[in-house]
Amino acid sequence: EEKRSLSFVEQMVEGDLAAGKNGSRIQTRFPPEPNGYIHIGHAKAICMDFGVADNYGGVCNLRFDDTNPSKENNEYVDSILNDIQWLGFKWGNLYYASDYFQQLWDFAVWMIKKGFAYIDEQTSEQMAAQKGTPTVAGTESPYRNRPVEENLELFNKMNTPEAVEGSMVLRAKLDMTNPNMHFRDPVIYRIIHTPHHRTGTKWHAYPMYDFAHGQSDYFEGVTHSICTLEFVPHRPLYDKLVDLLKEYEAENGHTPDYRPRQIEFNRLNLTYTVMSKRKLHTLVDESLVNGWDDPRMPTVCGMRRRGYSAQSIRNFIRSIGYTKFDALNDYALLEAAVRDDLNKRACRVSAVLNPVKLIITNYPEGQTEEMIAVNNPENEADGTHTITFSRELWIEREDFMEDAPKKFFRLSPGKEVRLKNSYIIMCTGCKKNADGEVEEIYAEYDPQSKSGEEGANRKVKGTLHWVSAAHCIEAEVRLYDRLFSVENPSADERDFRELLNPESLTVLNKCYVEKYLAEKKPGDFLQFQRIGYFTPDSDSKPERLIFNRTVGLKDTWAK
Ligand code: ATP
Ligand code: MG
Ligand code: MG
Repeated sequence: EEKRSLSFVEQMVEGDLAAGKNGSRIQTRFPPEPNGYIHIGHAKAICMDFGVADNYGGVCNLRFDDTNPSKENNEYVDSILNDIQWLGFKWGNLYYASDYFQQLWDFAVWMIKKGFAYIDEQTSEQMAAQKGTPTVAGTESPYRNRPVEENLELFNKMNTPEAVEGSMVLRAKLDMTNPNMHFRDPVIYRIIHTPHHRTGTKWHAYPMYDFAHGQSDYFEGVTHSICTLEFVPHRPLYDKLVDLLKEYEAENGHTPDYRPRQIEFNRLNLTYTVMSKRKLHTLVDESLVNGWDDPRMPTVCGMRRRGYSAQSIRNFIRSIGYTKFDALNDYALLEAAVRDDLNKRACRVSAVLNPVKLIITNYPEGQTEEMIAVNNPENEADGTHTITFSRELWIEREDFMEDAPKKFFRLSPGKEVRLKNSYIIMCTGCKKNADGEVEEIYAEYDPQSKSGEEGANRKVKGTLHWVSAAHCIEAEVRLYDRLFSVENPSADERDFRELLNPESLTVLNKCYVEKYLAEKKPGDFLQFQRIGYFTPDSDSKPERLIFNRTVGLKDTWAK
């Protein structure tokens, strides 16, 4: 992979290494919540977290941030494991925040005993009303100064099946006047009765993100906790809770010269799609797309099914880089990266999407020839395959015009074109039906002009792809367009469902592909010559081949 200049994150990491922080050890983590499938935004975080560890001889662990059982399950865990590996990354250890529930509980109990936490029995609305604003101090809860013993008793009660969800929470007792709103006695534990995907019904009180993330980092020995910009205002609280955790640990005789550091970069946002898990869930749940791996989805599994290579996703992420400013990245840049990479990998094949019959009238009936097709002109090692030529072929309807303008270098009466990998033909006419629609096109071939032979050097302007009518397979082809018809659906006032592009999927039922494609599998990279990049869909079966258009050959979105 190409070298690139250091991102600000790597500069910070290098600074810490040079200063000998944490014994010059590098440890990162990727911390997905298993509450959905990961998308290309997560891939950006993955490239950073794993990339930093790789570049500095460190380790990147995978940690499932599974502290909210009401939204999490093992289907998501499995998909995330699979997608990270497919993206090309290997984690060191596999951790779950739920592994630390007991440690976190014990630390919370210590917080209560030290007077740093209390049980609040107000409603969430009441607490919200007391929060104040960054410039107006908040109001202290009437429960703020209840005795330690009462807090401990109620905290234990929170963790029983009888506790009513929402009836009480544990709050850190910090500072209701702090301009940083996250310091205004944040909720650190809440009651949830939904069984947890790993711990079942053992727990009923669960730590909030802010009371789990930094602590988990600390327990594992993470040195650089890299996340996205929305966590910038959480950082002082992250540091404060690490301070308290170190104080607690010190009381138990544990005083390592170590602390994790949070660093934030800008999220990936892409035009014409959404990245919010909530919205992606809605698309799936309301069948607005065909599942998480619908090829129109920005999910890693959707992109894989569509035929994107992992390398192209990594290349795209490298090209946009990491900054401190949120931006909206052009989807066309991602597509350009896909084209660039697939150009090097894709096997060149023939498929006719909008077929019309072409008859070579001077080619003997019943005769066939096996023409040699180069698999990839970019890579000789990919070899060749053969494609059967015969008297009756399918070509694209758009490749013929009866009354063609001068610049039409395709087929038209009296004009010559080359049929890819085979002969030069001269169009002699066509037959139309009662509606004036072309039914058959006629041509004569030049037997001396076969590709690779002596007469082949004669110059003709156009080259057409084709398949032999008796030696091809009928197939379904799915063409995808932007999922949304507006550039930035997240910034639009309308409900995002209304912004969906009604033409994001076009299904072509009667396409013809060369026989060679019968053996191709989902994930094989193909170039349908002159059309675009394709891959077999996971629904494809031997008796019904289905192909997804990954991306067209040229950028047709360009304005
Ligand atoms: P939510 O918090 O709504 O569940 P999330 O998209 O933040 O969703 P997480 O599983 O919490 O999902 O994210 C895991 C990691 O991926 C976090 O470090 C997060 O910052 C990062 N991440 C999520 N979305 C993006 C994005 N669009 N660009 C870059 N990184 C992202
Ligand atoms: Mg999350
Ligand atoms: Mg998040």
